[in-house]
Amino acid sequence: MKQSMMFIPTLKEAPKDAETLSHKLLIRAGLGKQVAAGIYSYLPLGYKVLKKIENIIREELDKIDCSELLLPALCPADLWKESDRWDQYGPELMRLKDRKNRDFCLGPTHEEVITYVVRDYLNSYKKLPLAVYQIQTKFRDEMRPRFALMRGREFSMKDLYSFHENAECLDRWYQVVWETYKKIFTRCGLKVKVVNSDTGQIGGKEAHEFMVMSEVGEDDISYCTDCDYASNIEFSNLIEGNKCPKCNGTIKVAKGIEVGNIFKLGTKYSDSMNAKFLDRDGKSKSVIMGCYGLGVSRTLMAVIEQHSNENSIVWPKELKPFDLHIICVDSKKKEQLETAEKIYAKFKTKYDCLYDDRIERAGVKFKDADLIGIPYRIIVGKDVENCQIEVKDIKNNQVDKINVDQIENEIDILLKRNE
Ligand code: ATP
Ligand code: MG
Repeated sequence: MKQSMMFIPTLKEAPKDAETLSHKLLIRAGLGKQVAAGIYSYLPLGYKVLKKIENIIREELDKIDCSELLLPALCPADLWKESDRWDQYGPELMRLKDRKNRDFCLGPTHEEVITYVVRDYLNSYKKLPLAVYQIQTKFRDEMRPRFALMRGREFSMKDLYSFHENAECLDRWYQVVWETYKKIFTRCGLKVKVVNSDTGQIGGKEAHEFMVMSEVGEDDISYCTDCDYASNIEFSNLIEGNKCPKCNGTIKVAKGIEVGNIFKLGTKYSDSMNAKFLDRDGKSKSVIMGCYGLGVSRTLMAVIEQHSNENSIVWPKELKPFDLHIICVDSKKKEQLETAEKIYAKFKTKYDCLYDDRIERAGVKFKDADLIGIPYRIIVGKDVENCQIEVKDIKNNQVDKINVDQIENEIDILLKRNE
């Protein structure tokens, strides 16, 4: 992709309301732009990374036989009345009316819709278990939208729902999804703690949250320094210095960003919405459900928060927006331009390349390159006169001078080594 053709509106300064590193960099690196409070556009570079996160989620969920579907964002109030959440949900629910004055909401979550969609099909134990998910835009009129996509009023979520004939089957699934979540977050370059949590709004029996430890998180987590015990402080009441209930180790308290959560819903929705199946004895029973949310756009923010320094994002391997950044230092100089064009033509068939062909000052190009943080940079500058090109490895801040004839070989080795 030619950088002159790509819409990457980088900024020298972050907007005044941007308090967190990830918020500042989201805007400064031209990944996203606010349109209204808590409502953002994903710009090409940010959208590219978001899609990479989505694809990691898809790959891992496909491995455990979850199938992807897409439910409507616009949901009829009737279904929400069946579960009684039309009244319970409160002002966070974005409500609207159609031309016939019928009530709708913009889905903040989809337990009702999915229960409606599968309930006729799930008439027998033979159809169970079943697990379906979607990656979709959710709407919540949050009281305090904050930190850009971290707490948006419109945001991207992956929501998975599972259906079972008995509690044992749900328990097994819960564990499988738990492990899968760990894999997804690891591939996204995030370290997570799994914490005990309440079931909150959704209601059910057991729930856990996946937390990225960070000062900008909104949850207080008590965790053990010696074992894997961790709990949301709201429910554990453990404070700094207390003894760990699991291993007697020492408890610490720190902030966490909730990037995902898993719930054993039980029969809350199948009871209220009449999702029944015939079990092995021919008896009619309510389907047992689990639901599993993952904040896709919040994950993007958590990644930036954890992987950046003041003026640059250092992307985890699987989320880099491009493999290679080819920079022509002075696009007005014929020799530099020709060499850069040749290198771009050669590599673009093999790697995902961003080629900075813009007529801009070198300083501007390098500052933008730092912000965007593509892991490897090929810099075609003055030294082409001596057949030399620079290759920079961003993570190690290492620059090598390479002969033009050697460039293909060197890059192949470098990228292969770090695959
Ligand atoms: P929170 O406590 O942060 O409000 P929640 O418990 O309301 O989260 P869920 O309804 O379980 O969240 O949604 C599943 C996931 O969606 C969350 O774990 C989080 O990662 C993400 N999420 C929830 N609300 C938002 C939001 N307003 N903006 C961005 N992501 C969100
Ligand atoms: Mg919430």
